[in-house]
Amino acid sequence: MLTFKPIPLWKQLLRTNFVRWNKLAEFLELSEDQCSLIDVKPHFSLNLPLRLASKIPKGTIDDPIFKQFIPTMHEKESFALFFNDPTCDITHQKTPKLLQKYDGRALLICTSACAMHCRYCFRQNYPYETSQGHAFELELEEISRDTALREIILSGGDPLSLSDDVLQSLLRRLSVIPHIRRIRFHTRFPMGIPERIDEAFLKILGGIQKQLWFVIHANHSNEFDQDIWLKLKEIQKLGIPVLCQSVLLQGINDDVDALKRLCEDLVDHGVLPYYLHQLDRVQGAAHFEVTQEKGLWLVEQLRKQLSGYAVPLYVQEISGELSKTPL
Ligand code: SF4
Repeated sequence: MLTFKPIPLWKQLLRTNFVRWNKLAEFLELSEDQCSLIDVKPHFSLNLPLRLASKIPKGTIDDPIFKQFIPTMHEKESFALFFNDPTCDITHQKTPKLLQKYDGRALLICTSACAMHCRYCFRQNYPYETSQGHAFELELEEISRDTALREIILSGGDPLSLSDDVLQSLLRRLSVIPHIRRIRFHTRFPMGIPERIDEAFLKILGGIQKQLWFVIHANHSNEFDQDIWLKLKEIQKLGIPVLCQSVLLQGINDDVDALKRLCEDLVDHGVLPYYLHQLDRVQGAAHFEVTQEKGLWLVEQLRKQLSGYAVPLYVQEISGELSKTPL
């Protein structure tokens, strides 16, 4: 007799994401004028979890969540010095899904899928390798061969988009490679669908012997809620440090109060503000750029008002450099 595995709640929730602008506009009760600002045929599709959409006040477009996730006509503007692949990811490919930019660390592009589509994403044009499905044979072979590697970063897309079975197999195979000492997650998934951090996922993490690190991506305090903090606490209870990286974005978090609130909320919940990134200059995202002068001033103000550990390192990715460049 065939037995069917129930579909996990997080997968069911993914199906409730807004992917059509008119459904979202109706949900947000936007006026015709407001709708005229939306790019209804964006190059990078609309994808927004219901939980995040519910945090946007009705009839409002001047909102930090709206601006991060809803495509606007600004994306059609083209600027010199903004590129399809601003961080030159392609030049760092060791295999189709393995990138190495820095010494001792390599990035596994696990999947093209994300729980949400961020309008400023520097990897929105990345030519994801999908022909092998979720097979990582070439990548695991290369990681095993290169004994100089010490840390693997699971990125994407979002590694939490992978099913538990695929993720568990990948983690187990990575963790038996003797020279790999740490495995790091880079994920934004919990900000939209914290239900992804369920019993089954926590059990998988708890079964991995190598040290895990969990780096979330959030840019504004409004993205968080009590469910998200509780799920992050579950990760911390396993002895896995949780860090947060953010991108400095015009009209979203480029003021002292917004950044201060974000950093304080993070440290109040034991999450370390790790990086504040200068925007990577991807085509269509110029309207998000904050000048470096302003960024430096903002970080200076944070330093004056917060404990040292609550201030993220302001960095820029400069292709060819041996690490992220502190600004
Ligand atoms: S979740 Fe990350 S990879 Fe996915 S669109 Fe947002 S920034 Fe890009």
